[in-house]
Formats: sequence, C-alpha cells, structure tokens
Amino acid sequence: MKLTYTRAKGSNEPLPQLPQGTVNFLCPQCGQMEIIRTLRARKMATKYTCPSCNFTGPN
Ligand SMILES: [Zn+2]
Repeated sequence: MKLTYTRAKGSNEPLPQLPQGTVNFLCPQCGQMEIIRTLRARKMATKYTCPSCNFTGPN
C-alpha cells in the first residue's frame, strides 16, 4: 500500500481505504493538487511531490 497519494483538486478519483490518521490537504504551493498522506507517511517523513508544480515536501 502506498503511503502518499495525489489527485487533482476536486477530482472524484476513488481512493483506496485509508487508515485512521490519514490527512489530505491541497498542495501548499499551487493549490491545484490534493495530497493525501497516511499517518505512517507523516511519521516516517516520507517525501511527496506535487505532479502539478513539482513541489516536494514533508509538510
Ligand atoms: Zn503543487
């Protein structure tokens, strides 16, 4: 199972069932992509990259 998912803002793209503690937020740079991170991803500080603007971050 992936720890981090991204999808377009407002997308209805289905997500797999995600564990408790998962958060989702819009890309802090472009606001066009929704970033979905599991608790585990945050604990491990797994990096993510926004496919829209290439912003990377653990935040
Ligand atoms: Zn972005």
